[in-house]
Amino acid sequence: MSELSANTETMTAYMARFRDGGILNRIGGQDVPGSLGTFDNASPVDESHICTVARGGAEDMDKAARAAAAAFPAWRDLPAAERKKILIRIAEGIEARAEEIAFCESWDTGQALRFMSKAAIRGAENFRYFADQVTSARDGKQLRSPTLMNLTTRVPIGPVGVITPWNTPFMLSTWKIAPALAAGCTVVHKPAELSPVSARILMEIAEEAGLPPGVWNLVNGFGEEAGKALCEHPDIKALAFVGESSTGSLIQKQGAGTLKRVHLELGGKNPVVVFDDADLDRALDAVIFMIYSINGERCTSSSRLLVQDTIREEFEARLVERVNNIKVGHPLDPETVIGPMIGEEHFAKVTSYFDIAQEDGATIAAGGTRVGDRGYFLRPTLFTGAHNRMRIAQEEIFGPVLTSIPFSTEEEALEIANDTAYGLTGYLWTSDLTRALRFTDKLEAGMIWVNSENVRHLPTPFGGVKASGIGRDGGEWSFDFYMEQKHVGLALGDHKIPRLGV
Ligand code: NAD
Repeated sequence: MSELSANTETMTAYMARFRDGGILNRIGGQDVPGSLGTFDNASPVDESHICTVARGGAEDMDKAARAAAAAFPAWRDLPAAERKKILIRIAEGIEARAEEIAFCESWDTGQALRFMSKAAIRGAENFRYFADQVTSARDGKQLRSPTLMNLTTRVPIGPVGVITPWNTPFMLSTWKIAPALAAGCTVVHKPAELSPVSARILMEIAEEAGLPPGVWNLVNGFGEEAGKALCEHPDIKALAFVGESSTGSLIQKQGAGTLKRVHLELGGKNPVVVFDDADLDRALDAVIFMIYSINGERCTSSSRLLVQDTIREEFEARLVERVNNIKVGHPLDPETVIGPMIGEEHFAKVTSYFDIAQEDGATIAAGGTRVGDRGYFLRPTLFTGAHNRMRIAQEEIFGPVLTSIPFSTEEEALEIANDTAYGLTGYLWTSDLTRALRFTDKLEAGMIWVNSENVRHLPTPFGGVKASGIGRDGGEWSFDFYMEQKHVGLALGDHKIPRLGV
């Protein structure tokens, strides 16, 4: 039996219970059907039915938010060491079911198994990292003044809403939920309607790890129904959102009536700038990895290549050769790099840029075609002969599609890099350290890597500027979001108090 057939059998076995029983919402530790019925979940690989999913709306969100509010005081007041133990057990549970998570995620999203195996393990790392922070999360400062001993402490903000997208949904859910639980918040999670399977597995792992009922509630459904109701619920104190920039703006509007704190991780059109003094072999590897891995359905992908004109021709030629070698195929085939796009609508959007590129005068140097007539497969694509005002240089395509733009001077590269509505990540390749410092100082992005692809270090801040988001995740920054700062001033003696009306 080929490895693909064996993997398909394994995936089918893992998915059988979802096919038979569907996915229900989980509220206060109970399975609850959706108040609006169900919706169908299909695989992007062959458009086959995976399972039915509970379609939640305002009624379900109300139940979930109330359950989260009821569970909050006990979770907040649980000794930190106890919360830490539960988070570590969740990490262990993820590791124990990593294969199941990877197979289900791959079939549900179309992402290649080779990347999803790593994503499952990254999810466990998120829980382990924040478990280690639990005992210090409430620590504060001592700020002595002449008359007062001023203390600060942090307290969890309350029940929070977490809304996640369909790209690497398992990893992104852990990234948001782990720090929220570590801070002492309770959670209502609304996963993306296109990829609901791994959120259900994660929820089960959390309950098996001993998480009390109501601390984490899962409500499936569509954005404009379940998602909107979550944003508007008065018991929810903050919203952690990952998704498109236009949805982020809606989240803010919907949360405004109840004065929600929002954290938005949104889209990107990230530049990778390659100067002619760079290590071009390493730059080439990184450029390819950062747009053609994870189907290019990645917020931090380097979708604009800014390449110095002195090396452009050779660099693009080498790029074309490598891009044409990238294997598109069944995501459960261990050799596959690029699987199908998540669904019909997204596939139509990504492939529409093949015409847009040509209409705007760019060249399709590699790819630019669909693969097969079932599922949503396309060839990794490279546009050359582009300039930065073209739509392929300005709009987030969110697929394995790279736009190459030449530049001649450092000033021009910086101008092009910043000439976008977004500002999530930037990547810079040069051997000139002073230039790197100058450039990173002026580059409008929340995260920049020099001579490196995106390598996530969990204590560092993650987030974007401009249309790419508001707020930061990671280390202390996560706790700043999920917690309130509190100040307490204690008199050091009998300082003079103004006496009125004496
Ligand atoms: P999306 O905005 O369409 O959906 C994201 C989530 O929001 C889904 O769960 C959806 O149901 C929900 N939603 C939609 N409308 C809503 C509403 N009115 N109220 C409440 N919730 C609503 O995004 P997507 O297509 O699922 O994901 C892809 C996008 O996510 C890309 O733009 C990508 O760049 C971005 N992303 C950003 C980061 C980051 O860290 N900056 C990470 C991953 C993905």
